[in-house]
Amino acid sequence: MIDFRLTEEQERIRRLAHEFAEREIRPVAAHYDETEEMPWPVMEKAARVGLTSFQYPEEYGGGGMTSALVACLVAEELAWGCLGIATAIAGAGLAAVPIMLAGTPEQKARYLPRFCNGVYLGSFALTEPEAGSDAASLRTTAVRQGDRYILNGQKRFITHGGIADLYVIFATVAPGTGHRGITAFIVEKGTPGLSAGKKEKKMGMRASHTGDVILEDVEVPVENRLGEEGQGFYIAMQSFEHTRPMVAAMAVGVARAAYEYALQYARERVQFGKPIITKQAIRFLLADMATEIDAARLLAWRAAWMVDQGMPANVTASMAKAFAADAAMRITTDAVQILGGYGYMREYPVEKWMRDAKILQIVEGTSQIQRVVISQMLAMGME
Ligand SMILES: Cc1cc2nc3c(=O)[nH]c(=O)nc-3n(C[C@H](O)[C@H](O)[C@H](O)COP(=O)(O)OP(=O)(O)OC[C@H]3O[C@@H](n4cnc5c(N)ncnc54)[C@H](O)[C@@H]3O)c2cc1C
Repeated sequence: MIDFRLTEEQERIRRLAHEFAEREIRPVAAHYDETEEMPWPVMEKAARVGLTSFQYPEEYGGGGMTSALVACLVAEELAWGCLGIATAIAGAGLAAVPIMLAGTPEQKARYLPRFCNGVYLGSFALTEPEAGSDAASLRTTAVRQGDRYILNGQKRFITHGGIADLYVIFATVAPGTGHRGITAFIVEKGTPGLSAGKKEKKMGMRASHTGDVILEDVEVPVENRLGEEGQGFYIAMQSFEHTRPMVAAMAVGVARAAYEYALQYARERVQFGKPIITKQAIRFLLADMATEIDAARLLAWRAAWMVDQGMPANVTASMAKAFAADAAMRITTDAVQILGGYGYMREYPVEKWMRDAKILQIVEGTSQIQRVVISQMLAMGME
């Protein structure tokens, strides 16, 4: 049976996230975009109302709503407020995903409660200067010496990189063997040899910190290895299956913000004696926007639902992420067009949504890489 209505509990958390976005995020979005500072006060408020802990099991102090679909509902609303601030809030949990998926009971009991107790930043550190889309070619090494590993390398473009409290670092125990050697490690802030590299200055999503992480002879105890040696690439890909629907939902949030603004503007802006919404060229743009938003949300929800059912969701998650990110780019660009010259001005919020949308076609695997994933599975006869 298919039912597209949300349950009371789902609707309650969606409304909480929406009201939070309207009251706490929207009013400061332009400020953090301008200054590129981390929105600490907003993050603290989000933690206080449960928007950083709802997704963790109750046994670790979370809200017990361990559902990818619920994560999508919250992500869409926060991103409707501001993608950068949404990433600062929701991105903090990126390191918790692989721990939830592959952690031992001891690792979960040790680390997950920290994400449920105020602002606690986790980083998922896979990308390197020479290994982006081709993550399996990463060069950071992990050499075992007795009961520890020694990590050396450099991570690039890491969300919260350099300021995080906890890192899941992907390194290879067998250089030159591609994905077969990749292994994941939990590394805490303050570990000797772990340091911050440069902080990036970005086109959009500017309230979210992005930076390099340097690893110089970082000693990691064996008990901080996540999964077995060689399982890291699989853990990373499995994590994406969980997080890509959420990124798709964020794209829906950004697109919706731009669409709503453009619709209102088109009703009010008068040219040639009539509101511009009377022109078919504008109406059709708005019709396409509304249709694509709905389609993107349905794909994101279906991928999340599959994750929640324990079904393989790799292809659907990639479809949702690629479709929603591409749609958000088109919709925000068209929203600027509907506002004409005003759309291009920083006095109006629409140009920011267009700048923000671009990152969604790049992070968590570019739109091209999603198509690689989808087409590989199709070629293998799997859907
Ligand atoms: C703001 C920001 C935040 C990020 N946060 C994180 C994070 O928290 N953790 C993390 O690990 N990484 C993070 N990343 C890294 C991100 O995942 C990579 O930037 C992304 O995977 C692309 O890698 P790249 O930038 O090296 O581009 P490249 O891989 O060099 O790609 C360049 C171009 O070539 C295309 N391309 C590459 N290979 C193929 C192919 N086989 N077929 C077709 N086209 C191809 C790409 O689609 C792209 O258009 C972040 C990046 C940014 C910008």
